[in-house]
Amino acid sequence: MRGPIVEFTPANFPKGVAENGAIAFLDRDGVLNLGKSTYINSPEELEILPEAPEAVGDLRRLGFRTCIVTNQSPIMRGLWDENQLFVIHERLRQLFLEYDKDAHFDMIITCPHRNRDNCSCRKPNPGMLQLGSELLRKKPMEVFDSKQKIIEIGSKFNAVNWWKEKISPVNELDMMIGDRNSDMGAGWAVGARLFRVPQSIGIKHVRKRIIDNNDKGDYFSPVR
Ligand SMILES: [Mg+2]
Ligand SMILES: [Zn+2]
Repeated sequence: MRGPIVEFTPANFPKGVAENGAIAFLDRDGVLNLGKSTYINSPEELEILPEAPEAVGDLRRLGFRTCIVTNQSPIMRGLWDENQLFVIHERLRQLFLEYDKDAHFDMIITCPHRNRDNCSCRKPNPGMLQLGSELLRKKPMEVFDSKQKIIEIGSKFNAVNWWKEKISPVNELDMMIGDRNSDMGAGWAVGARLFRVPQSIGIKHVRKRIIDNNDKGDYFSPVR
């Protein structure tokens, strides 16, 4: 099964900032831009949520790699293809940098599948976070020939046992910010600190918390 779709664009940190080794995984719709029940189908439909670029800029200024992980089933539903996705993401990046010159995304990973495709990348499965973790922490960083790539992760990643204890993350500052249970589940499965936001407010809701390295994040149990 084709997917997830990876856009790998690592960039230097702002001047004087050292990489802290952690990754901030960000859901897209309802966290960075306003979500819609009918999906975001074109760049014109993108509405950036207030203070979202500044919050992403804050993370980069602290040395976090930023990685969007987003479920976009309209692709497998046949509504539009990955070229349309790239156009939407190009506009998203442009808007973020307009508001905050440090608001850069090192990677955007998209699951194109539907529920019934049973992939290992659609959140709450952690496939996209595991892949991002692997690619972004590889040293020296391998840069794709073309910036975009479709990767087949298939059964490479093991199924999650949702009943076990939350695991330790690769880096204790790793975080997942999202507006849904599925985001919290995917973050939980990689041991990340979890920050849940209201979909109409987005990342601004936790802007102070995510720059506090002592904040352990929100409690979440996937089987409650
Ligand atoms: Mg969302
Ligand atoms: Zn998938």
